[in-house]
Amino acid sequence: MYQILDGKTVSAYVKQQVKDEVALLAENGSVPALAVIIVGNDPASKVYVGNKKKACEMTGMKSIEYALDENTSEEELLALIDKLNGDKEVNGILCQLPLPKHINEDKIIDAIAPEKDVDGFSAVNVGKIWLGKYEISPCTPMGVIELLDYYKIPLEGKNCVVVGRSNIVGKPMAALLLERNATVTICHSRTKDLASFTKNADVIVAAVGRANFITADMVKDGAVVVDVGINRLESGKLCGDVDFENVKEKASFITPVPGGCGPMTIAVLMKNTLVAYKAQNK
Ligand code: NAP
Repeated sequence: MYQILDGKTVSAYVKQQVKDEVALLAENGSVPALAVIIVGNDPASKVYVGNKKKACEMTGMKSIEYALDENTSEEELLALIDKLNGDKEVNGILCQLPLPKHINEDKIIDAIAPEKDVDGFSAVNVGKIWLGKYEISPCTPMGVIELLDYYKIPLEGKNCVVVGRSNIVGKPMAALLLERNATVTICHSRTKDLASFTKNADVIVAAVGRANFITADMVKDGAVVVDVGINRLESGKLCGDVDFENVKEKASFITPVPGGCGPMTIAVLMKNTLVAYKAQNK
């Protein structure tokens, strides 16, 4: 019998912890502030930015939104980031991805001061994760760790297979699992015989971006299955990278989509903004 890893419940718990700390700070007259930049009119990005704004309201933090025109130049965006880097009233800066094609995303991510990079995407913060010396962690992978911790799922010595090696999910996910003393395998599009790896996994983290990609025959009995994927079907329905209906019968724990990793990402963003505030106001 499987158990659901309930991202809604755990994210509410994490956000409540942040809210309690922010309330104490508010008594002294200041709260963390998150600047959220969105460029253009991508509907999904607007939804994500709206959810981040709501999370700031819920936790008592200040959110400042910069909604920029689709035609904003790279120089204009860099100038805004430079201004926010120097603004003592701003503790976290987030630039919603994807950006329009004429803007170099890597350049923008690396322009954000590492101490304000609450997404944890910059080269400095990613490097620190591999060194095991980080304060700000990438939101989605850390959300997975928080979810597993809440359900007291042990990672030490476990075979963990991460499917996907992107800079924002797969690679930092592997680094965080390694730090927890798991034995980590990273699989990707060039991996030969993917199922031979997943079938031996105690924990599978799927971050591929393909609907129902991980099927029941790829999963061993009792595995913990974490689905980071968010895919929209032609029907408009959201689904993950895991064939949930069939895989759940083999899993011991499994995340739903929606309601699994998605809410955790935003909860960690709130936590990171608080961490950034505290580091800047020692
Ligand atoms: P991405 O940059 O497109 O990376 C996808 C990864 O999957 C790549 O490393 C790719 O391998 C690998 N892959 C593709 N086809 C494969 C195959 N047939 N076998 C094995 N590996 C394969 O995507 P991402 O940004 O990491 O996101 C992954 C998913 O997570 C997406 O659905 C995204 O929407 C979702 N996501 C969710 C959250 C959240 O908050 N829950 C946050 C971020 C992303 P190569 O490197 O070899 O090309």
